[in-house]
Amino acid sequence: MAYTLKPLPYDYKALEPSIDETTVHIHHDKHQQAYVDKCNTAMEKHPELFNKTIAQVLSDLMSVPVDIKKDVTNQGGGVFNHTFYWETLSAKHNQQPIGNLKAAIDSTFGSYEDFKAQFKQQAISVFGSGWTWLVKDANNAVKIVNTANQDTPISSHLVPLLTIDVWEHAYYLKYQNLRPNYIDNFFNILDWEKAEQFYNLSFDEFCKKF
Ligand code: MN
Repeated sequence: MAYTLKPLPYDYKALEPSIDETTVHIHHDKHQQAYVDKCNTAMEKHPELFNKTIAQVLSDLMSVPVDIKKDVTNQGGGVFNHTFYWETLSAKHNQQPIGNLKAAIDSTFGSYEDFKAQFKQQAISVFGSGWTWLVKDANNAVKIVNTANQDTPISSHLVPLLTIDVWEHAYYLKYQNLRPNYIDNFFNILDWEKAEQFYNLSFDEFCKKF
């Protein structure tokens, strides 16, 4: 079965004013849909891959047939990255870290404010198109990593906890060249309950969900 575009977990207006409704429509309905369609076109050449979730496919790129590996990396990465991005944003604004993840953030970065400062610097430093992530490794240590284009930390066996899309299509209508302002407002719409749920999953459990 081919992949389908996952609906947003909230209304298109729910992320206002941090992310405007028009940007959400174009980003989800046009950009993300295109990644889904192109991923399906590639994987239809090896339809047995559809038995896995897209995260499971991306976690094992070595086993993806060479003729579609590039398309799966780029288009399939686009499918997972966008699905995950919407999933960890929330209609309930101004949440704070909770639970085990809050403890990990405080011990690793010092405080939530210190975490935000480091995450913002890292997201500003993405050259060209890419993503900044909060992830956990196999020892439950948290860290901030960047990926280029539609590369994903799943392929490095890291569990994603949060992410920001810093491709210009994610923010240009509202923020134009002001990526730092988009990042500042992004912190207001994070879903820390979801991030805590993901922190408490193993890598394999995580990949099954996406
Ligand atoms: Mn995007």
